[in-house]
Amino acid sequence: MTAPRAPIEVREFPVPELPQGGALLRTAFSEVCGTDVHLWHGRLAGVPYPIIPGHVTAGVLERSRGQARAIDGTAINEGDRVVFFDVHRTCGRCMACTVNRTPTRCASRRVYGITDSATEGLFGGWSQAVYLEPGVVLAKLPDAVSFEDYIGGGCGLLTAVHGIERASIQLGDTVVVQGTGAVGLSLIALARIAGAGTIVAIGAPADRLALASRMGADAVLDVERTTPEERLQRLSDLTQGQLADVVIEAAGSAHAIEEGPNLARNGGRYVIVGHYTNVGDSRINAHEQINRKHLDIRGCWGSEAGHFLRALRILERHARQVPWNEIGAKTYGLHDLNAALAEAEAFTVPKALVEPNRSR
Ligand SMILES: [Zn+2]
Ligand SMILES: [Zn+2]
Repeated sequence: MTAPRAPIEVREFPVPELPQGGALLRTAFSEVCGTDVHLWHGRLAGVPYPIIPGHVTAGVLERSRGQARAIDGTAINEGDRVVFFDVHRTCGRCMACTVNRTPTRCASRRVYGITDSATEGLFGGWSQAVYLEPGVVLAKLPDAVSFEDYIGGGCGLLTAVHGIERASIQLGDTVVVQGTGAVGLSLIALARIAGAGTIVAIGAPADRLALASRMGADAVLDVERTTPEERLQRLSDLTQGQLADVVIEAAGSAHAIEEGPNLARNGGRYVIVGHYTNVGDSRINAHEQINRKHLDIRGCWGSEAGHFLRALRILERHARQVPWNEIGAKTYGLHDLNAALAEAEAFTVPKALVEPNRSR
């Protein structure tokens, strides 16, 4: 991706010389997520174009210099199926990392496929090989987890693990998820695993809502065919007037923020996960929607290595029951990436996958 709105180019790079502790991954799958669409439109600040997009990626360890190890110390050998945490260079020393304990706000933090420039090498998954620099958090993909399960969950699953942590779901809680994209779909599944009672999903289009039901939603409301008033009434009917203990926003729309607080009960929680770019102001009445309601509003930015490892454990345990592999509905080779971006933007598939090593 050479610049915002420029067509994706296929370029050749030299095979990197590995430093001690470095490794090379042969890519099996990467993905096109909503962030990649934003990157292509130039909506994220400080992106060092040209970049090789693709932050969450899975593959096979092709080569390492020195024994490669997972973060828990387990040896990783050439030929093993490997995944890595796309966030790297979090410093562990700054105010954000130590005093404030918000490592996802560390200024040194870099992310494969987003804030790493292609001028520095193979730092993105839309590539046949990915350079894993020393210090990148690696893990073996558990035997029970297919590449398709992992990448179907992808970055949306990692974000959802963090969102569920922020939501502090209690057993039996009624949970509303706004948005049925990759993040929302994983939030539905994880809310169920976390012990939620009734789960209501708000989204579109119809096939995405059908997938939301298969991910674990008890009721789905089509955001394009209902008004906010009708959705509130429906939620009220479903909960005998109690409304939601927890509402989680994964829609990325300013209107979702205007509606979300109304769906939460008095003293409920509202977790905002979907606003990765600035989509403009939302109109909120602080008296009606927050203060009098005693509402607890929480943001959620990025993910940490712990969320990555938890996502792997969840997949290992639940990927046979939860259809994460259905989220990655369509696969593209390196020469079809402009079409993949267009499909992702048009929401015609829940998620487009990138398979760089497939023959054309
Ligand atoms: Zn730091
Ligand atoms: Zn992403």
